[in-house]
Amino acid sequence: MSNPVVKCTVDSCTHYMPGDQCMAAKISVYNDEEKAKSNTSEDTLCKSFYPGKSLGNMVGALHNANVGGVMSAPFVDGTQITPQVECFVKSCKFWDSHNHCDAEAIHVVGKNASSTSETDCHTYESSH
Ligand code: SF4
Ligand code: SF4
Repeated sequence: MSNPVVKCTVDSCTHYMPGDQCMAAKISVYNDEEKAKSNTSEDTLCKSFYPGKSLGNMVGALHNANVGGVMSAPFVDGTQITPQVECFVKSCKFWDSHNHCDAEAIHVVGKNASSTSETDCHTYESSH
């Protein structure tokens, strides 16, 4: 099974790194809490969003930091650090069994987000 490369532009998240990379060891993509099912990318969110600039708020990030990975080999194609992705958005055409995402890459968005609900998986596409 492959794991998508994560590009993220949520620079208000403590896991964000310049270059639009995510330094979390793992991220979880969910449906927005008030919706049981996503119909658009705006209905999805990155549950692993944690508010705070990456430099200066590292304490909050350490519970889920890819520190060990940085030391070994987290690189995909030699350049990109990427977290493991689990996804619960079953209405997405890239969703696969065992909460796996089959997309080659995903783009998490939410400029100036202050909560998880303001983030989206922009790569979501309805399976219908
Ligand atoms: S919003 Fe999600 S994908 Fe983006 S940096 Fe934070 S944890 Fe990573
Ligand atoms: S592309 Fe679809 S399956 Fe992959 S993380 Fe985003 S919503 Fe989930």
